[in-house]
Amino acid sequence: MKLNSGLPFWLIKDGLPYTYPKLETSIQTEVAILGGGISGALMAYYLTDAGVKCVVVDARTIGLGSTCASTSLLQYEIDTPLSKLKDLVGLDHAVRSYQLCADSINTIRAITKKINYKEFKAVKSLYYAAAKKDVSFLKKEYQIRKDTGFAVRYLDEKEIKETFDFAAPAAILSECGAKINAYSFANALHQYSIKNGTEVYDRSPIKNIKHNKNNVVLETENGITIDAKKLIYATGYEVINFIKKKIVTLHSTYATISEQSSIKTDFWKDDVLIWNTAKPYLYMRTTADNRILIGGRDEDFYNPEKRDKMIDRKRNLLVKDFNILFPKIPFIPEFTWTGTFGETEDGLPFIGTYNDLPNSYFALGFGGNGITFSVIAAEIITDLITGKENKDVAIFSFDRI
Ligand SMILES: Cc1cc2nc3c(=O)[nH]c(=O)nc-3n(C[C@H](O)[C@H](O)[C@H](O)COP(=O)(O)OP(=O)(O)OC[C@H]3O[C@@H](n4cnc5c(N)ncnc54)[C@H](O)[C@@H]3O)c2cc1C
Repeated sequence: MKLNSGLPFWLIKDGLPYTYPKLETSIQTEVAILGGGISGALMAYYLTDAGVKCVVVDARTIGLGSTCASTSLLQYEIDTPLSKLKDLVGLDHAVRSYQLCADSINTIRAITKKINYKEFKAVKSLYYAAAKKDVSFLKKEYQIRKDTGFAVRYLDEKEIKETFDFAAPAAILSECGAKINAYSFANALHQYSIKNGTEVYDRSPIKNIKHNKNNVVLETENGITIDAKKLIYATGYEVINFIKKKIVTLHSTYATISEQSSIKTDFWKDDVLIWNTAKPYLYMRTTADNRILIGGRDEDFYNPEKRDKMIDRKRNLLVKDFNILFPKIPFIPEFTWTGTFGETEDGLPFIGTYNDLPNSYFALGFGGNGITFSVIAAEIITDLITGKENKDVAIFSFDRI
């Protein structure tokens, strides 16, 4: 699949921070992780720390799937609002999903400290009503989040204008949120895991996978194999090549980033993450090197050719969206990119075992919270592999559909 096109900012900023070898001899391991993006990197980090021998293998250069295209907002707020998610999966699972995402942000903070990674910053998150008609929904959403223990504040039009200097009829300000760079973070995680005994191979596409009774054998087109007791699919959207069940709908999404601002002040109060209730939603964040990053304007199709032809037009639309919101903040776009994006019916990821493929687990953080979902996946799957009970398994299991 062509997962991204254009000029993903992080790839330009960081280039190739490390190189990894190709898989050139057959090997054996306890656990093989297929995919070395942010999901595979977190998975390997957790297993390495748990003392499980693992090998990561990726078809691409590390991070060049969806991970380098990620705008890397860390939010506890799932694409499906809590007030709607409760009707789809029940209140307990809905609230627990939100809580697990919030916990994941704290977990990521702790990991970044441990591995001495610097591009994590905690920031609040502002979810505003894109139109007056969304105010009643936003009030309901605020109430359920407040009642279920999330640190939120409801802001009316006047307070939004006074505090953030833009016009919106209402908003929810959440304490919990952060921003990161998923591409450099994935690389930093791999470096940590490699130092602690994990092997990471890239540019090594796996063409055949045999799920046997007691092991799984992965094979490259040159006949080189990885013989593993267990396999974890951290293949991102390309998982559709491996499972029959329809679990995800693929879309196209767009992002553009401004030139650097030479004067560092917050662009808006506290540089909070900003997103809205529109469908598709518009979102924005700032970066450590003083840029503004805007994303959205999604299209309901996966067709890389059609998607890529729209890059310039989508950039202009995103800039226009920004100018309407913040007419006083200059935004000169420098890099624009597009990527494939996947949505599940309830907005939750698929994590855990899949009956048709024995000795395997899936770490599929689909949706706008792909990164926090990958932390949840790494925690659950590590527990399953190390024989610990994990009470959240059912929430994200394939059996729920
Ligand atoms: C424009 C955009 C903005 C986004 N913004 C956010 C955001 O703000 N916050 C957020 O949390 N998420 C965001 N996401 C989603 C997030 O980026 C993804 O959820 C995340 O990057 C997925 O990581 P991954 O490791 O699962 O997949 P990938 O990064 O795609 O990695 C999977 C890897 O598996 C490898 N693979 C697949 N099949 C094989 C095979 N047969 N053999 C060998 N290797 C194989 C691929 O080569 C690939 O590198 C965004 C996504 C996009 C496109």
